[in-house]
Amino acid sequence: MTGHIAAPDLWFARTEDEVRRLQAIARLAHRFAERAARHDEEASFPHDNIQDLRDLGYVRWTVPRAFGGDEIPLYTMLLCQEELARGDGSTALAIGWHVGMMLNLRFSHAFPPEVYEEVCRSVVQRGSLINSCATEPATGSPSRGGRPQTTATRVEGGWRITGRKTFSTLSPALDWILVTAGIDGSEDVGEFLVRGADVEIIETWNVMGMRATGSHDIVLRDVFVPDVHLIARMAPGQRSARNQDGGGWMLHIPACYLGIARAARDAAVHYAATYQPNSLSHPIAELPHIQDKLGQMELKLLSARTLMYDLARRYDEASPEQRPKLRPQLGAVKTLATNAAVEVVDLAMRVVGARSLWKDMVFERLYRDVRAGLHNPPMDDVVLTMLARHALAEVKARVEAPWEEA
Ligand SMILES: Cc1cc2nc3c(=O)[nH]c(=O)nc-3n(C[C@H](O)[C@H](O)[C@H](O)COP(=O)(O)OP(=O)(O)OC[C@H]3O[C@@H](n4cnc5c(N)ncnc54)[C@H](O)[C@@H]3O)c2cc1C
Repeated sequence: MTGHIAAPDLWFARTEDEVRRLQAIARLAHRFAERAARHDEEASFPHDNIQDLRDLGYVRWTVPRAFGGDEIPLYTMLLCQEELARGDGSTALAIGWHVGMMLNLRFSHAFPPEVYEEVCRSVVQRGSLINSCATEPATGSPSRGGRPQTTATRVEGGWRITGRKTFSTLSPALDWILVTAGIDGSEDVGEFLVRGADVEIIETWNVMGMRATGSHDIVLRDVFVPDVHLIARMAPGQRSARNQDGGGWMLHIPACYLGIARAARDAAVHYAATYQPNSLSHPIAELPHIQDKLGQMELKLLSARTLMYDLARRYDEASPEQRPKLRPQLGAVKTLATNAAVEVVDLAMRVVGARSLWKDMVFERLYRDVRAGLHNPPMDDVVLTMLARHALAEVKARVEAPWEEA
């Protein structure tokens, strides 16, 4: 039993275009929900789902119109990502890195123009996919600033790169991979665009949740990268150009985990409305303690989703100079949403009771999947520090601001 409700929730859709896209995505999500248990059990990569997304054209929706894409805003991308995750979290997270990165490159202009055009055209014409693979065992989360052990050595016309990346989501389908590497003979770190065909995938992804994301290790052995594919060269502590857009695209992460939580919410509400043990003359949905839990779930989802879509709208409307200033609030969305999502799945299982533990129901998979959100960036402690620093700076600025009488 998938427990998946086919019809999408249109509460946050603003335009006819968004409704139309959401409905198309919801049809695929329903299909993905039927495949999800098998991919989860086998830890197999959902090539079938990715092909369906290519066939719909979804992989090019965040690409600029100038290169044949649909140029959808962040807000619309999140509607689609959340809906996909309601069907299958793994597929949503995997494709989310691709559509998110294409949005990130559109806003940050981080790639040299000819490389950007080459990547965009490959997405539009062949359905090519991209992700950034930066995590290594020795660095842990790259957001902490550790130097990669992957190394780039200067050779004629370019670079040779050797190293190993972990947590490389979408790896079985990647055509383009942005890897970080320490530049031999210097303190600098580079971001290099590597072709998927040039790396070896080592199938290490055997984990508790998000098992169908294909987040295997990738190994680079003396991979040649031409000069033009050195995208950024950063001195220690410096951010790459790609990181100077405020990171709105990374809201695909909270959207994914909210979608997973909504799947649990839908299934639990339906269960509560239809399950009537013979000790009761009505379904359990009428019991006060069940309604209390359902109400708590609604509160958590409504507040996290409202914050996410409000920030997405602000991000879309902001100027390129204003966008980086939204970083603390965008981080707040991630922390609020992923923690709320964990709590919602937990509450859903309490509503259903012991049947929620059964493998033939969706809850135990959602319970495993939703945990992964805690370990996607930005991490909670980083967000709380950012918010604290933002509060200190904001109050200081107002204290020092000249006061004008009304
Ligand atoms: C489903 C999934 C998909 C992913 N996909 C990708 C991907 O496509 N590409 C990619 O590059 N990565 C990906 N990642 C990796 C992710 O971005 C993190 O790098 C990874 O989860 C490790 O983060 P961590 O905090 O657990 O690890 P660590 O950084 O090793 O941290 C371990 C613990 O130590 C603490 N800690 C470590 N260093 C510090 C520090 N300097 N300051 C304070 N506390 C610290 C952490 O808070 C944590 O409690 C993915 C992860 C998951 C779970």
